[in-house]
Amino acid sequence: MQVRSLPVLQNWDCHSCGDCCRSYAVPATADERRRIEGQGWESLPDFQGVPFFVKRGGEFYLNHRADGGCVFLGTDNLCRIHGKFGSAAKPLACRIYPFLLVPAGDHWNLGLRLACPSAAENKGRGLNAQLGDAREYATFFESTAAKGAIESPPPPLHGSQVVPWGDVARIASAFSKMLANDEDPFERRWRKILFIITMLKKAKFDGGGDAKKAVTAGKLSEMLHVLGLAADDDEPETAAEVKRPGWAGRTVFRQLVAVFSRKDHGAEKGTAQRGPVRRFASAVKFAAGRGRVPKVHAVLTDAATFAAGEVPLGALSDTAVSLLARWHRVKVESLQFCGSPNFGLSVWEGLESLALTFPAAMWLARVLVAGGKSLDASVTQAVRMVDDNFGFNPLLGSMRQKFALRMLANRGDLPRLIAWYGR
Ligand code: SF4
Repeated sequence: MQVRSLPVLQNWDCHSCGDCCRSYAVPATADERRRIEGQGWESLPDFQGVPFFVKRGGEFYLNHRADGGCVFLGTDNLCRIHGKFGSAAKPLACRIYPFLLVPAGDHWNLGLRLACPSAAENKGRGLNAQLGDAREYATFFESTAAKGAIESPPPPLHGSQVVPWGDVARIASAFSKMLANDEDPFERRWRKILFIITMLKKAKFDGGGDAKKAVTAGKLSEMLHVLGLAADDDEPETAAEVKRPGWAGRTVFRQLVAVFSRKDHGAEKGTAQRGPVRRFASAVKFAAGRGRVPKVHAVLTDAATFAAGEVPLGALSDTAVSLLARWHRVKVESLQFCGSPNFGLSVWEGLESLALTFPAAMWLARVLVAGGKSLDASVTQAVRMVDDNFGFNPLLGSMRQKFALRMLANRGDLPRLIAWYGR
């Protein structure tokens, strides 16, 4: 199978910050454990009495030291397994991060997690230059049980409406172009896309069982073009002209923000995540939306208040807008927003869930600005935090969160939240 890079210009190279080695619970297969156990680490003084792996819920993970770092992270922030035995000696999960291989019919799309600081800052070589490594990982996936993923049918648009992979790619390409359109403020780009989705949800792509009425590739391109023009006419020019989201919408939104902001593992784990009582108290505070924001992530300071989350950021810098556009174009073009990489969401719901990450990141950025960070640094940090959870935090795949997303979409609150927190 081929691995395809993305049209959006996105760069990355590892700059050995060690963030991922301090952040994640890395699973290790039986083969990987055997390999690492045969590398002779137990003879070194700093490994005396230190297990290499821990077992949780029947799975094995790389162990971490008291400072939060992986047991194999050296004082120079470099992986000692990599340093001594080369990249191939590490667990695959370490090697592949921050790449994602997204099944797309007859090929894989190369996606990227902007939770990695180098990816968020666009530092390094273009993704095109990384295809060699990505193909090696894809070959591995194809030789394992994950092979089924590449043979899977396209995710439905909505309900039972299914179109070929090529049409899903056509939709992604049209929306990626809209996200890149710098004639619109970033928040309006998403409002226009949501307008089109609302219209397309009403279409019967399979012709209601009549093949002659089915939407062909040509008709789909025409529909996207015409609806793009209608969205431009219909959507208010500025966020200030959009109705404020209602109390219920903002309450549900804050509960989703609580999930998008949290850090459950590693050195930046929030203290509000320690134990069921604290987690419950934190959920109640997010619902109430008053006082200090619970420390669901270590970067949230005492200055982080719910009131700060309601203070507009004002105009974003070109740097911030370009990061936001690049982030969402990577997600859209790679198709990471729907199907298996995003808890089985349909195409339209996956796009709505991605749209919601924009107000979530803006809310977080407002709170971080109140804590003294610069605007650009706050936006970058917020994007990294939200992207860390998007498609990965199992809570976002729960029935409860899917219901919350559906409720916001059905009430018409998504464009309002985007405009309100995009100010
Ligand atoms: S977070 Fe990114 S840049 Fe930092 S060590 Fe991991 S892959 Fe490298």
